[in-house]
Amino acid sequence: MSSSTDAAAARTPAKLVFAAPRRAKPPRHLADLSPAERREAVVALGEKPFRADQLSRHYFARLVDDPAEMTDLPAAARDRLVGDLLPPLLSPVRELACDDGRTLKTVWKAFDGVLFESVLMRYPDRATMCVSSQAGCGMNCPFCATGQAGLTRNLSTAEIVEQVAAGARALARGRIPGGPGRVSNIVFMGMGEPLANYRSVIGAVRRITDPAPAGLGISQRAVTVSTVGLVPAIEKLAAEELSVRLAVSLHAPDDELRDELVPINNRWKVAEVLDAAWAYAERSGRRVSVEYALIKDVNDQAWRADLLGRLLKGRLVHVNLIPLNPTPGSKWTASRPQDEREFVRRLEAHGVAVTVRDTRGREIDGACGQLAAQSG
Ligand code: SAH
Repeated sequence: MSSSTDAAAARTPAKLVFAAPRRAKPPRHLADLSPAERREAVVALGEKPFRADQLSRHYFARLVDDPAEMTDLPAAARDRLVGDLLPPLLSPVRELACDDGRTLKTVWKAFDGVLFESVLMRYPDRATMCVSSQAGCGMNCPFCATGQAGLTRNLSTAEIVEQVAAGARALARGRIPGGPGRVSNIVFMGMGEPLANYRSVIGAVRRITDPAPAGLGISQRAVTVSTVGLVPAIEKLAAEELSVRLAVSLHAPDDELRDELVPINNRWKVAEVLDAAWAYAERSGRRVSVEYALIKDVNDQAWRADLLGRLLKGRLVHVNLIPLNPTPGSKWTASRPQDEREFVRRLEAHGVAVTVRDTRGREIDGACGQLAAQSG
């Protein structure tokens, strides 16, 4: 880690800011373990190491979730291995579909009753899983539904991977219109701040992207980790030498407004977050995505578009404008169409690539910032 990170860490110990409440841990699962750890675990159960590879093939490559289909495992061994390494982690509490079934939101209940959500979005050319990394979120952004309830707990690596595996099963088994398919893209844009649950998220990225049967075999380049801008964690992520895309939720180009919209900005300022983002882009070779929810008369002024354009000009970056999806009771709403157009125009005038995010899943509260566990 760089010396600037050390200095930042010295100012505020990260654990004071991000510590999740102490709770019982989810049971250990195959997807929590690296291939070497899986073999150790299998041996500890008195089985031959190759049984770990058989289990991995069932879980990651064949997407099997019914032990009865694991016919290459002798019954006694299967019961022992499945009982210890494939405990049920998540049960669906509710499923909501829209876009003719091509968008599917699932509310999951974990072993301890906590609820969180994932969203599968199938497009003609790809299928994206939007996953949660935490139950709730501690970042407290006032426009985000998840931010209102606070953090319940971090999800384990396997609880994150299971969300993807569930989507992969639904596609593979033809449950989503369009014929059997595969998950091609992953976005860590569900509930939670992924970089505040660093270890589990990195583990999940590895399980998701390791080639099958070690993992699910999804391309690292098709994975996006979205963050409020936890600078030391962005630096740590860069050092992992992964080729995942980084998305930074900026939402304001100036510290005065960002302090309010993304409260962690009181700790790491716009300039520090962008510096960390540019370092990530350089190291990974990946264009950074800057997320900007357009909020009427709050952050959508022409001067803010120009300021943002000046900050981003000439960088390896792409701006994703998200029409604000108002949370219940919110005093804020999405920008007027003409203001959105002018915002885009001004960014483009600075030579900055920009797109406006589609609003898939709005009717089922599956769109950005709407992932609140109201199903309890
Ligand atoms: N904690 C991560 C992931 C959050 S969700 C992060 O902050 O990046 C992914 C994106 O949706 C973030 O950019 C978040 O700021 C944005 N978002 C949250 N609530 C929203 C809302 N009500 N309308 C539009 N975008 C929202």
